Amino acid sequence: MTSSSDYIAIENQYYAQTVRRQPVVIVRGEGTRVWDADGKEYLDFVAGWAVNNLGHCHPAVTQAIVDQANTLVQTSNQFYTVPQLNLAQILIDNSCLDRVFFGNSGAEANEGALKLARRYGKLHRDGAYEVITAFNSFHGRTMGTLAATGQPHYQEAFTPLLPGFVHVDFNDVEGIMNATTDKTAAVFLEPVQGEGGVNIPDDDYLQRVREWCDQQGLLLMLDEVQTGLGRLGSLFGYQEYGVEPDVITLAKGLGYGVPIGAFLSKEYCMALVPGDHGSTFGGNPLATAAAYAGTKFLIDNDIPAHVTVMGAHLLAQLNSLKSRFSFIIDVRGKGLLTAVEFDSDIAGQVLTHANAAGLLLNAVKPNAIRFMPPLTITTEELDQGVGRFADALAQI
Ligand SMILES: *Cc1c(COP(=O)(O)O)cnc(C)c1O
Repeated sequence: MTSSSDYIAIENQYYAQTVRRQPVVIVRGEGTRVWDADGKEYLDFVAGWAVNNLGHCHPAVTQAIVDQANTLVQTSNQFYTVPQLNLAQILIDNSCLDRVFFGNSGAEANEGALKLARRYGKLHRDGAYEVITAFNSFHGRTMGTLAATGQPHYQEAFTPLLPGFVHVDFNDVEGIMNATTDKTAAVFLEPVQGEGGVNIPDDDYLQRVREWCDQQGLLLMLDEVQTGLGRLGSLFGYQEYGVEPDVITLAKGLGYGVPIGAFLSKEYCMALVPGDHGSTFGGNPLATAAAYAGTKFLIDNDIPAHVTVMGAHLLAQLNSLKSRFSFIIDVRGKGLLTAVEFDSDIAGQVLTHANAAGLLLNAVKPNAIRFMPPLTITTEELDQGVGRFADALAQI
């Protein structure tokens, strides 16, 4: 049997060294658990970076993939395919949006939304093209989404950046007001910033941004790549904040492990016309069959309601660790997107001890850990995970 260390040596030799990986070679998953190449079991609180919303190898998703693989894997968007239309219908019927376009990733979903904003600006706002985004946001790694991302450390190596982005503080409506000019076409925000550290805005932030966008005729576009499909305790993050965006983007949680992305828009602002946008694999039958089966299960079983209960439980458990470990300075979360912040840069050490304890976590910042387990997690699994987390912290 090839051991984890053998595989890690192969990676070192052959793979582009662009990602900082944990020394864990995952070979199998089931529900909230995964196993490594040496047979060790872990609770997976990373879940593919908030992707495996129904856990690993959920039967509803696996069955859909197997059936579709036996039926039709790929055609092109030159033709109609049925799974794509099933997914389009369930997303539109369950959201405030009217039309959807499918791509293959979060970055690609956001690129589509940004193209839509520019087209909308040309048609309806006298050529306005600027998009206001937030500092500490994360919108992807392509040239357009990198420029949208409000984190200079991702951008500096790749300048000059695509022009047309203005960054303001997150959770600061006045910042958006002050940055608005006659060149502004859209405001583009995450409902809760995920990769930027699990930053939760004031309850009325998005409502106030919505009012400003209405007053000024700007599009309100929400990057729901991480918050979408149940993560915050509603099917879509915007529902938690009582607003209706003009455009949303989805990816991570939409595919239940299969690569997919999407942008959805209101009818009035779907400014793209035939020939403006496309994708070879986007909305491919295999990916959309999996996404449809997972989304149907999520909705039919009201998993978002379960997320609200589990999220509150996780927050309470983590808060109780705060009194035991004085180096925890903050615990914050919404639904099952949660972070624990420390008073120094120990997140890397915590991961090492958590791996040993059988718990997979994400170091969202040098001093903070992000928890984003499958949405189907049980109370017992949460408690066991928090127990393993406490064991890891005790090693610090
Ligand atoms: C992960 C993420 C992206 C990028 O998605 P990819 O599929 O990695 O391109 C964009 N926006 C948000 C909010 C994300 O969390």
